Order: sequence, then C-alpha cells, then structure tokens
Amino acid sequence: MSLKQLHNHRNSLSFRLTMWYALIFTLTSLLALFIFYYHISRITMGNTDNELKEELDEFYSLMQIDGVDQVTMEIVLESESEGKGVFFRLLSTDGRVLKALNMGAYGDVAVSDAALEALDRNEKYVFETVALAGKGFNARVIYGAISPTIIFNMGLSLDDNYKYLAVFRNLIFLLMIPLFLIAAFIGWFLARHALKGVEEVTQTAIEISRGSIDKRVEVKKRHFEIDRLANTFNTMLDRIQTLIVGMREMNDNVAHDLRSPLTRIRGIAEMTLVGNGSMEDYAEMAANTIEECDKLIEIINTMMDITETESGVSRMKSEPLDIVELILSACELFDPIAREKDVRLVTELPDRLPIVGDRSKMQRLVTNLLENAIKYNKQGGTVTISATRENQSVNIRVEDTGVGIPEEELPHIFERFYRCDRSRSQDGIGLGLSLAKAIVNAFGGEIRVQSVVNQGSLFTVSLPV
Ligand code: ADP
Repeated sequence: MSLKQLHNHRNSLSFRLTMWYALIFTLTSLLALFIFYYHISRITMGNTDNELKEELDEFYSLMQIDGVDQVTMEIVLESESEGKGVFFRLLSTDGRVLKALNMGAYGDVAVSDAALEALDRNEKYVFETVALAGKGFNARVIYGAISPTIIFNMGLSLDDNYKYLAVFRNLIFLLMIPLFLIAAFIGWFLARHALKGVEEVTQTAIEISRGSIDKRVEVKKRHFEIDRLANTFNTMLDRIQTLIVGMREMNDNVAHDLRSPLTRIRGIAEMTLVGNGSMEDYAEMAANTIEECDKLIEIINTMMDITETESGVSRMKSEPLDIVELILSACELFDPIAREKDVRLVTELPDRLPIVGDRSKMQRLVTNLLENAIKYNKQGGTVTISATRENQSVNIRVEDTGVGIPEEELPHIFERFYRCDRSRSQDGIGLGLSLAKAIVNAFGGEIRVQSVVNQGSLFTVSLPV
C-alpha cells in the first residue's frame, strides 16, 4: 500500500467507524471489567474482615467461659498452626502489650490510639489496614475487648488477597488487546456492511462520469437510508438526463431556426455581389436583410429573457400594478392588428384588479397570449380577455375562436421552439409561450390551456396574490 493509499484509507469513513466502534467497545468492556474487579476486591476484603470477626468472637466466648489462661494457650496453639500469615496480641485497655505472638513477619506494628478510643466509646469491633513499611505487604487488623481489662488484637496479612486481585488486574490488561482486535474486526464488518450501498452509488457515479448517463443504482431492499440515497441519486440522474436531452433538442432547434434567416441573408448578399439589379432591387434586398436580422435578434433576445426569468427569480421586481389597466393598454396596442385581421377584441374586466409583480414581465405575458389569440384566429373571429379574482389568486383568461391546437400537440406548446404543424404558415419563432410559462412560474403561478381544433383555445393564467 502506497503512502497516499494509506492516507486515503485512514481518512475513509469505514476506517473511522471501525476505530470508533473498537474504541467505544473496548472502553465499555474495560469499564464493566473494572466494576467487576471493584466488587471482587470488596468481597475479598469483606471475607477477611469476617474471618477476623469470627476469631474475635471465639476468643471472647473462651474468655467468658475458661478465663485468660485458656485464651493465652489457644493463641499460642493457633499462632503455631496458622504460621506467619497471622499475628495475635493481648493488650491492656491503655494499649500496653500483654502478650504478642508471630510478630516476626510484621515487625513492630504500633497499637492504634484511634482504635483504643473507639473501643472506649463501646464499639465492639475496630478494623484497620496497616501498611507495613519495608515488609512489602499490608495487614488487616482487628481490635475488640474480650474482657473489661483485655483487648484482643489480631492481624491478617493481605498478601494473598493482593496477589489474587493482581491476577485479575493482569487478566484485564491482557484482555485489552484481544478485546480491541475483536471490536475492530466487528466494527470493520459492520462499517463495510453499512457502507456497501454507498459504495454502489459511488461506483455508478464513476461509471456515469465515464459517459454512461443512462446507468442507475439498483434499488434493492437494503437499509432505509441507503435506499433513499439510491432513489434520490436516481431521481437526480433522471432530471439531469431530461435536462441534457432538452438542451440537445434546444440546440438542434436553435441551430435550425438560426439557419433559415442566415441562409436567406447569405442568398441576398450573393445576389448583391452579382451586382446586376436596379436601385429598387437593392433597397428591397436591404429591407429583407433587416427583416431577417430582426428575426435573429428577436430569437436571441427572447432566449435571453427566458433564461433570465428562469434563473433570476430573485431579481424580479415586486411593484404594485393594476392587471385591468395592463390588459386594456395591451388591447389598445393590438387593436390595429386585430382590425386588420377582422378579429373582434372583447374584454370582461372589473374596475380594478391590483396585484404585486414585475410590470414589464406581466406586459410580456399578456401581450404574448393576446398576440397568439389574434394570430391564430380566423377572419371574423373573436378574442375575449377576462380577469377575475378568486380566493387567493387572480385569473386571467384569453379565449379565441381560432384554429385550435390538436390534443397530441397540447403537451408540447410550452416547449422552446415548438410550433404546431398547422400554424407554421404564420410568422413566429415558437418562444412566446415558453417565455409566458417562465414568467408565470417565476411568480409561483400556473398556466393552463384547453383547446378544440377549429373552434378555438382558452389560455388561463392563475397568479397568487
Ligand atoms: P409562436 O411564435 O409560434 O407563436 P408560441 O410559443 O407563442 O410561438 O406558440 C407555440 C405554438 O403554439 C404556436 O406555434 C402555435 O402552433 C400554438 N399556439 C399558441 N397559441 C395558440 C392559439 N391561441 N391558438 C392556436 N395555436 C396556438
């Protein structure tokens, strides 16, 4: 493994999860072991205290029944049989040593004043742990009165207890390494299992980045989070693919729509070069060139308007405006064109209909719909524009009695550069409705169309207020 791979591996989520799991598992296990150890050490010490207490009780009874001589004899016998692990002393109530046995291994264990004081206060047993400097071990010591004048004092070496507990301690420390290794293995297994789905998503992303945009992550019944990631990833890919296909189509359409005026401009230029026309011919060629250029400029400007409207929702102005006034001025503007086509403009409007929006965008919206309603109308037809307020929205309706739109073409009319077959004879670039839809979307509204071929169309715009 190279240094870079090692570094990447150390920064990987699976490595970190493994390490965290191993650490937490080991620490928790250690804590449990230490609690266990603490209880064991308490029980061991408790046993020692019980042993001392039982001895004291025995000597107390012996003292009551047989007297001090029998007690002394018994101490001698026990000290011989118990060996070096135990010492016995008989003390006077003021702390003088009356008899001492087996003190060799313990040295000079001082009589505790605190213990004598406690006995003086009528306490039955007093325990102390004595550190035996230089002997290398500690002793547990009991004091207790066996008669009004004699105190029984006995000490037990804690050496065995400590050795026993040391075995436990060593075992715990020895267990640490295998515990950590086992925990790391389990953690690694769990992390691998949990991140397998993420790895599959990554693999798909790699394949897509190499060009296979139609690849998708398989959604099997795994963990909820991974399935959600896979679904979201697939949805995102669907959207990207739709956008790419849309952009490709749009590119084709732009190329197609730009090619015709450019070809015509080129044709005019060639004819001019031949140079055998009259002044009137040249004037007409110049006028045609200007017309074609205007068309090109209109395509480019409208494309830019759509892009700006779609991407710059936040730059849209919010100014108070009256929809009625806006519709009336649009009708005034289109009245001459309508008359020329023998189309009647009818308005059904309230006195005022105030909304907040971007005036120039609203004007574009209304004029685009009105222009289409006149353009695709029949001679002697009617265009009816109405506006109403319903609940939380303002509805603008533009209805015509024109050629209508075939049902199968209805889903496409808002696409860029889409033109219905039957309306190709009319002037147009197929961007007016795309811009109208972009404007309505930018204001959080909705645009709908209903149409019957040869009877007419109804465009309804709903804007929230
Ligand atoms: P165009 O510049 O061609 O008018 P639009 O985007 O405004 O572009 O409209 C797209 C197409 O939808 C038009 O080419 C036409 O076929 C159809 N269309 C739009 N409005 C109407 C209408 N009122 N009546 C019939 N067809 C319409």
